[in-house]
Amino acid sequence: MKLIIFGPPGSGKGTYSMRLRERYGLEKISTGDIFRDEIKRGTILGKKIENYLKEGKLVPDDVVIEVVRRKLEGLENFILDGFPRTVEQAKVLDSITKIDAIIKINAHKEILIKKISARRICSNPKCDGNYNVADIKKTIEGIEYILPPLLPKNDMKCDKCGSPLIQRDDDKPEVIEERLKVYEQQSKPVIEYYTKKGTIPFIEVWMNRPPEEVVENIVKSIEKLKSCSSNRNQSI
Ligand code: AMP
Repeated sequence: MKLIIFGPPGSGKGTYSMRLRERYGLEKISTGDIFRDEIKRGTILGKKIENYLKEGKLVPDDVVIEVVRRKLEGLENFILDGFPRTVEQAKVLDSITKIDAIIKINAHKEILIKKISARRICSNPKCDGNYNVADIKKTIEGIEYILPPLLPKNDMKCDKCGSPLIQRDDDKPEVIEERLKVYEQQSKPVIEYYTKKGTIPFIEVWMNRPPEEVVENIVKSIEKLKSCSSNRNQSI
């Protein structure tokens, strides 16, 4: 199965895709994670892209496409988290492989800002501990958000390795605005591109409940798609 998970910064793509990876045995390809790792390791690529991430800007298409092209070689089961983010990237992806479904996460800007500002990650570069200190109960335009915090057991120390928690550089207020603006300007047209094309089914969900509930909704939709395609003698 080949999936894309698409949504604005802070919409929980990383968390949902991690759970879907476990559920379906998918390879999770997160361009953001790949880039952060390159920066941490101080590689040539890391040095080249460092400033884009720091400023919340998109890494140039040719660089991103090369990285993803290499990762996708020979893969049949994967979830793409954070790619494609431009129409150019989407077009190249179409020429490389056939995606089975696009999971689209919706959320209001006000909620995204609260969630991103409250995200805390483990300071240990080898650990992927991820937490959130925001406690959100709010209804906006008929969408009721109930998002409890995801706190560590010990005061601001990672549950997995005990290292202190920190805020990601690009989760700081001045960068958040820029990332949301970039999403509106460059990434939303990706959805328009796929909608116009009309060949890949969308699974659309709101980020308005804890991850386990949102993921259950996504899983139900995937199962529905799978049974539809097996009725047509196609498998996803
Ligand atoms: P993320 O963790 O997905 O929010 O990505 C963090 C940062 O990595 C983004 O703000 C961009 O600077 C960069 N990035 C990740 N994926 C892409 C992509 N597909 N195209 C361009 N830049 C990207």
